[in-house]
Amino acid sequence: MDEERSSIVLIFDLDNTVIYSHIDFRAIRLALIEILHKYGSTFPTEMLVRHAIPELVAMGEHIGPEVGKAMWEVVMHHERAGLEGATLVEHAPEVLNTLKGWGYRLALLTNNGRAAVEEVLHAFGLAGTFEVVVSREDVHSPKPSPEGITLILNRLRGSPALAYMIGDAWIDGLAAQRAGVRFIAFQPREEDLRSRGIVPWAVIQDLRELLRFFPPKEPQRNL
Ligand SMILES: [Mg+2]
Repeated sequence: MDEERSSIVLIFDLDNTVIYSHIDFRAIRLALIEILHKYGSTFPTEMLVRHAIPELVAMGEHIGPEVGKAMWEVVMHHERAGLEGATLVEHAPEVLNTLKGWGYRLALLTNNGRAAVEEVLHAFGLAGTFEVVVSREDVHSPKPSPEGITLILNRLRGSPALAYMIGDAWIDGLAAQRAGVRFIAFQPREEDLRSRGIVPWAVIQDLRELLRFFPPKEPQRNL
């Protein structure tokens, strides 16, 4: 039974799941859309604003490498500003450390840049908490692509059937769905999930609820 527990992989998103970064994702999207329009994109804002940030940047890169570069600079500027004012999500360290102590394997998957991620993990004493940290530079396609999840499972020799993605956003849910792992939605905007056909395995409002799903011992089975 211990063996099964130690092969359960819990993959956490960072922003608004482990820390509140105060990154203004909508402002980033609008700034990126402005750049796309400046370089001739004719897609309307209402349509573009539904795309994930990496998808918008990919459109810019398609126009030209200098456009993509300008867009990444906008993203990094906002990221840094948002991470400077970051605060911990309630109970995040105690829940993460408890799960780790019980033998669950923890990974972090974020679309943020590595330098900013390392800084914030260090600042909150979480630098050694995750066995694997995958940030934007580690993948070709960030979330909602399943690539990061697959990379984590390969590194930990984990199986999708025993893995869970925990995150607040539809990109976490879609990445999980595409990778064939269960999605636990943390304080999600449920309409965002519903409108994209994402069905979470569970919805939680408090990270401590994870300790019920992932207990210290396998429940007794009366066979
Ligand atoms: Mg998030």
